[in-house]
Amino acid sequence: MHLDYLDAILKLNLYSKHYYVLDDPITTDEVYDKLYHEVLAFEEDNPTLTSHNSPTQRVGDLVSSGFTKEPHLSRMWSLEDIFDSAGLQKWLTKTYKLDENISFYCEPKYDGASLNLVYEDGKLVKGITRGDGTVGELITQNVKTIKSIPLEIDYKQRIEIRGEVVIFKDEFEKINKTRLAEGEALFANPRNAAAGSLRQLDSNITSKRNLVFLPYGVGEDELDQKLLSNKMEYIYSLGFRKPPERAICKGYDEIEDIYKQMVKDRDSYSMMLDGMVVKVNEISSQIDMGYTVKVPRFSVAYKFPAVEKITTVKEIILQVGRSGAVTPVAIVEPTDIDGVIVERATLHNFDEIQRKDIRLGDKVIILRSGDVIPKIIKVLTHERDGSEVVFAKPTNCPVCESELLQEEVLIKCQNLKCASRVVNSIMYFASKPCLNIDGLGVKIVEALFTSGLVLSVVDLFDLNLEQLLELEGFKEKKSQNLLNALANTKGKDYWRFINSLGIEHIGEVASKTLADSFGFSFVNATKEQIVECEGIGEEMAESLLEFVRVNAETIVKLQAILEPTEPLKREEAEENPFKAKTVVLTGTMSESRGAIKEMLETLGSKVSGSVSKKTDFLIYGEDAGSKYDKAISLGVSCLAENEMKSMI
Ligand code: NAD
Repeated sequence: MHLDYLDAILKLNLYSKHYYVLDDPITTDEVYDKLYHEVLAFEEDNPTLTSHNSPTQRVGDLVSSGFTKEPHLSRMWSLEDIFDSAGLQKWLTKTYKLDENISFYCEPKYDGASLNLVYEDGKLVKGITRGDGTVGELITQNVKTIKSIPLEIDYKQRIEIRGEVVIFKDEFEKINKTRLAEGEALFANPRNAAAGSLRQLDSNITSKRNLVFLPYGVGEDELDQKLLSNKMEYIYSLGFRKPPERAICKGYDEIEDIYKQMVKDRDSYSMMLDGMVVKVNEISSQIDMGYTVKVPRFSVAYKFPAVEKITTVKEIILQVGRSGAVTPVAIVEPTDIDGVIVERATLHNFDEIQRKDIRLGDKVIILRSGDVIPKIIKVLTHERDGSEVVFAKPTNCPVCESELLQEEVLIKCQNLKCASRVVNSIMYFASKPCLNIDGLGVKIVEALFTSGLVLSVVDLFDLNLEQLLELEGFKEKKSQNLLNALANTKGKDYWRFINSLGIEHIGEVASKTLADSFGFSFVNATKEQIVECEGIGEEMAESLLEFVRVNAETIVKLQAILEPTEPLKREEAEENPFKAKTVVLTGTMSESRGAIKEMLETLGSKVSGSVSKKTDFLIYGEDAGSKYDKAISLGVSCLAENEMKSMI
């Protein structure tokens, strides 16, 4: 056991180096945490054998060279972590023993990099990474580029304000997209991207990364609030961002409730969270409870279920989509991620396989968060034993065997009659964001296609009961249901009709824009008129014009069959401040964004997803993110939700 213990310490320290210093982890947090807790348990049983080199004896980060080292005025700490209700019960019992008259302040545990800000005489004088908790790296220049960090505050005493630097999820996707285009290594996750961006020797790079600072506490301070919650409200009032969710809880039940709520909401937040932090709210009790060598006794990190797991790539299969694009999909060893068994992961295209050097048999880190399709974020190349096999790019369509053509990063089947292309376009036509036709599952569409009854979407509307009853497995009820569902496609919103045409680059949002802007005459719109529309660029306009040119007849035929409903013209709405204005929504509102969007649309507004010079109003709720910053920088009028409501 002693040898295993030393081996485990070596492993943990290696993981930490990759995680903290190189910002390029070689395992998941879950694997790290499990091993860490085994080491901790061993040390509790064998205190005399505890090594000074153990990660349990110090705050995680190592200080890398390249920056000046700077001591903190008061120490920075790590957090004890718990993973379930039993862990919470145990921690509460332990904490109540120290003081029974306490309440708790709960807030998100942001997954980023810790930062200590020192203000003197109301001015930001230093920004220091956590480092080993006592000494960190002096990164003031970089910190000054972060817009959510005020350079001056209305508080003159010396104070250390601590928080986490994060990168919002949408910004992370953008950074990785750019890095991909420029052939640079991708960041595994927003946490590594944030840590890596914060510790750049060139502040110009940091300034481009749109980092966000979220305060979670203070170090040295002269504030006289008796409750942490009040202290934090005061910090927010100095110009810092508030957490998207926070609560003062009396005990176990209330803590569990807010934890469950945060787990539920985690995907809707702009930033990554890896748990919820529970802190004793009474400052005097915090002082009495004090610290272990590494963590405060008055707080605990209640971790969320892991979204990253290690698995093995068993196979790579090829799917042919409606546009003919051949997409590789990784089949992985089935792995439970937060209650869902993940068996496949998207690979996007063959360049991605090459760039990430994904081989059959590789051990990989897979991510599944929210509704996002699971993806491989990292190959664990150090785990290779030589048996892994490089995947060869296909030259022929796996379905119809016709030769494949490379179009930029995509490989495409050019055969318009390829079974997979036709079946997928019918499936798309029937899908939720298109005509939402019940009962057209893949098996049924395949059967209709193979029988020769349906070779294109128009054929669907010529089907009759007799024909269907002749097909294997089609009983009276099922056939009639399908015919009814097809008949029910009449009169749907016009944007659904446009979306269902499956025009390359034109998705749901663009279809809505086209329907709102042109109504039935979208087929006659010129390129100049199309690119005038918010969110529609040259490439989309060209794709639309080409589609209309080639498919004019089908569009007319389908429109006659489906009789879609033309949207209300914006000019027809009653006079109001939002009529014919372009509006963007951001942050958490008092009701769902969908409901607010709908309300604004009936007032004649065009609700757009992104802020640009053409935006007339940005309407924001709690936790407004980068859209708010952008609107301010472009001089767009920003209205709080209640201001907007009072104007109506
Ligand atoms: P931690 O990150 O789990 O917790 C402490 C830190 O949480 C604080 O320093 C602070 O920066 C941050 N934090 C975020 N929100 C906070 C809030 N509201 N209040 C207080 N603090 C908040 O602890 P750690 O010691 O820095 O790191 C250990 C963790 O890092 C492990 O549990 C593991 O998950 C991960 N890790 C992973 C690897 C890997 O290879 N994947 C390696 C090392 C560490």
